[in-house]
Amino acid sequence: MAILVYIEHAGGKVKKTSLEAVSFANALAAKTNEGEVVAVALGAIGDDELASVGSAGAAKVLHASDDRLSAGVIQAHASAVAQAFEKVGAKTVVLAKSSLGDAVAARLAIKIKAGLVSNVVELPDTSSGYQVKRSIYTGKAFAMTAVETENKILAIKKNAVDLKTDGAPASVESFEVSLADSDFASKITSTEQATGEILLPEADIVVSGGRGMKGPENWGMIEDLAKTLGAATGCSKPVSDIGWRPHHEHVGQTGVKVAPTLYVAIGISGAIQHLAGVNSSKYIVVINKDPEAPFFKAADYGIVGDAFEVVPKLNEALKAE
Ligand code: FAD
Repeated sequence: MAILVYIEHAGGKVKKTSLEAVSFANALAAKTNEGEVVAVALGAIGDDELASVGSAGAAKVLHASDDRLSAGVIQAHASAVAQAFEKVGAKTVVLAKSSLGDAVAARLAIKIKAGLVSNVVELPDTSSGYQVKRSIYTGKAFAMTAVETENKILAIKKNAVDLKTDGAPASVESFEVSLADSDFASKITSTEQATGEILLPEADIVVSGGRGMKGPENWGMIEDLAKTLGAATGCSKPVSDIGWRPHHEHVGQTGVKVAPTLYVAIGISGAIQHLAGVNSSKYIVVINKDPEAPFFKAADYGIVGDAFEVVPKLNEALKAE
C-alpha cells in the first residue's frame, strides 16, 4: 500500500508545489496508515533531482523516462499515473493544484474511478467519513467536501502546506509505461513564454504595479525590483486597460489569480476585484502613499510612502544583502 504523488518538473527541477504535495502525502500517510509515499515522475529529469524528493517525505520515485512523455501530453501523463497507481496498490493520489495538475487529475479520476477534490488546504478529517477542506471563492471561504469513493485524488493548493525538508533521499526506480496512440491524440507542440523569465501564475514572488506608477515609462523600477527578488511582474486592471502593461500581467478577479509566497503591491489601491486575485498569497507587502488605501488592511507589511522614493531605496537595500 502507498500514497502516490504526481511530480511536476520544469528545467530539470522538481517544482516546489510538487514538494508541497509530497509533504502533504507524507503527513496523510502517517494519519491514515496508507503506507509509504511513492512519487511518479514522467519525462526527462535527472536521478539526483528525483532522489531529492525524499527530503519532502517520499520513500521512492518511479521514473518513466520515455522521451514522448516530456512534451505536453496530458492524456499520456494520466495513463502513466494510472499505471503507477495500479503498480503501487494506492488508493490515494496527491498532486499540486496547477493547470497541468488539474488537466491530469480530471483524466486520471475517470481512469481510476476516483473522487477528486481540488484546492485542498488541510489533511482530511477522517473522524466521520472522509471530509476534505478546500479553498473556494478565490481564497475567501472554505468548503468541506465529502469523498465517498474508495479511490481519491487530492490536488493541494499552493502554499497551503508546510514543506518537509528533513527526509532521506528517495530511491529512484525506472518505470516502464505502456502507452497507446490514443494517449497522444493531442499534444502541446510548442510554448512561447509571454514575458520576462518567470511566469506570473506560477511565480513564487510577484511585484505588481498600479495606476500610482503614473505611466509605463516608470515601470523600470518595478522590473528592477522584480529582477532583484527573482519575481514575476504583475499589474492592476486599469494599468493593462490603458496599455501601460500587457493584459496577461493583469492580476485580479478578471485577470490572473496568483498565490505566491510574496506579493508586493506598489501604487495599487487594493480594490476588492484586485484582492480577489491575490488573497491566496502567503505574505503581502503594500507600498502606497495614501495611509488609508484599502490594500493596507490585507497587508502583512506596509510602507506608507511615495513609490518613486521607496522602491529604488528598497531595491538598493535588497541588492546590498
Ligand atoms: P487606483 O484605484 O487609481 O489606485 C492607485 C493607487 O496608487 C492609490 O491607492 C494611490 O494612493 C496610489 N498612489 C498614487 N501615487 C502614488 C505614489 N507616488 N506612490 C505610491 N502610491 C501611489 N482591478 C484589478 O486590478 N483587477 C481585476 O481583475 C479587476 N476586475 C474588475 C472587475 C470589475 C467587474 C470591475 C467593476 C472592476 C475591476 N477592477 C479590477 C478594477 C478595480 O475596481 C479598481 O478600479 C482597480 O483595481 C484600481 O487600480 P489601481 O489600484 O491601480 O488604481
